[in-house]
Amino acid sequence: MALMTGVCGIASAQPEDHGQPEIILHKTNPHFDAGAPPAGSTGSITPLIQYHGGPVMGSPTTYVIWYGNWGQSNGSDTAAGQAIVNDFLHGLGGSPYYVTNASYQGVTGNLSNGASITDNYSQGANLSDRKVSLIVSNAISSGRLPRDGNGIYLVLSSSDVSETSGFCSRYCGWHTYQTISGTNIKYAFIGNANRCLNACSMQTNSPNGNAGVDGMVSVIAHEIEETNTDPNLNAWYDSKGAEDADKCAWTFGQTLFQTSSGAYYNMTLPTVSGGSRPFLIQRELDSNSHCYVDYISKKQ
Ligand SMILES: [Zn+2]
Repeated sequence: MALMTGVCGIASAQPEDHGQPEIILHKTNPHFDAGAPPAGSTGSITPLIQYHGGPVMGSPTTYVIWYGNWGQSNGSDTAAGQAIVNDFLHGLGGSPYYVTNASYQGVTGNLSNGASITDNYSQGANLSDRKVSLIVSNAISSGRLPRDGNGIYLVLSSSDVSETSGFCSRYCGWHTYQTISGTNIKYAFIGNANRCLNACSMQTNSPNGNAGVDGMVSVIAHEIEETNTDPNLNAWYDSKGAEDADKCAWTFGQTLFQTSSGAYYNMTLPTVSGGSRPFLIQRELDSNSHCYVDYISKKQ
């Protein structure tokens, strides 16, 4: 099992005897609002990522659990904020960005979008890792979401919700896996970055006018691609335990664009309604340890 140290900022695995799965963290942002987002290196990101023999996911299906209250009047935990995420998930699979993941043998670079549900604070507003696990297992055991071993379940919390193992202080999101109802279920927690923009977003002026959710979608990308290439924490990671997205975290490539309001973005993706949206998304590592924004045209 990969112990996450260094780049990913996790000290150690969760103690086995607590019955809790190891969670793999997305560290907080070191460069908030310091001018243009960092491009990052175009060379090999060392130590090189290596394959450790475990399974990868071919074409996963994402499921969303909107946790807390996404109908608030704070300008971030809103239906418009949910639409940013829904559009992002719609456009992500098969995009020139996401096909970077197809460099890992067995991964297609495609994603499907499954059902989404709301969970109105069933575990309260102060979550633990165990409560996040219960949110997912209850969603499945109740039949509100399908039991899908090919799924990636995303628990997306509104900004009034804390995750006491370190959301906003140690990490911006994490992923893990656990046997639920006899099926190996992969899931992730990502909180609305509006709770701590300086830690979990890149800019206060963001491309879709919602800095929290615009920050959140980059973390969502991070957790999906790590789950895709290392679902059971025994496939792709480096000698320090860093997974693919960890190695490109908080770097955004050589080619940045700006909206009319000056917000930075590095890609546009097609939306649910047939339009397009700008996004600022961290780069993704290919299996040769280079970070890309666009794997088709080799934009780094
Ligand atoms: Zn990570």
